[in-house]
Amino acid sequence: MTQDTPSLFISHGAPTIALDAGDATHRFLRGLGRALGRPEAVLVVSAHWEADAPHVSSAIRPETIHDFYGFPDPLYRLVYPAPGAPALASRVAQLLPDAGIQVTVDAERGLDHGAWIPLMLMYPEADIPVTQLSVQVASGPEHHYRVGKALRVLRREGVLIIGSGGFTHNLGAVDFHSESTVLPAWGEEFRAWVDRAIEEGRIDDLLNYRSMAPHAARNHPREEHFLPLFAALGAGGGATRVHTDVAYGTLAMDAYRFD
Ligand code: ZN
Repeated sequence: MTQDTPSLFISHGAPTIALDAGDATHRFLRGLGRALGRPEAVLVVSAHWEADAPHVSSAIRPETIHDFYGFPDPLYRLVYPAPGAPALASRVAQLLPDAGIQVTVDAERGLDHGAWIPLMLMYPEADIPVTQLSVQVASGPEHHYRVGKALRVLRREGVLIIGSGGFTHNLGAVDFHSESTVLPAWGEEFRAWVDRAIEEGRIDDLLNYRSMAPHAARNHPREEHFLPLFAALGAGGGATRVHTDVAYGTLAMDAYRFD
């Protein structure tokens, strides 16, 4: 019997994790790829592709987009030459409208660092077809949950759906020199609330996290890094937290798989 591929939520952190073999999230992502085995294709819902309505890439050879600034030179020389997944893009372009969600197919869009950095660690051979789906900040959690739900069937077809964002993401509070592995109280209270809500399957509470979770707006001044969680949640089933760490004193690096 073949099992459905899980969906994932990953906190991708800063681009530097690509080269930092001592980093806990770097090691986690390397192990995660091995633990999951090889999917047929990967669909990444990345915080770094924002559009007003869902866009999916049908690029045949997606370019590696270095969409970050002020980081060390070697990061800008990394490439992730995975093939695109136009057939998967076509499936997405069929499934979303079937669920009443319009989608635009973009033949050019490459892979942003929310996609290629985790994938470079998970699947370094870069031989699994990959495509991306955008997030819509104005549309909120429920829309992304519905998107995930509409795509759930892809897991049966061996597609690995990854929401790539950040469990907490207040860039104004980032301290690049911090070695702290503990969040400030306003981060920890938020993380604990969300962790528990996921564990207990309280979907309605999660969809209303902005008013219900402590310090929600402080942890996510904008929602783009949190919305991929709702796509993964909608696509998946039972939740398991598979990673937790803190980067730069303020970024919770929690990751989940949904089986
Ligand atoms: Zn990011």
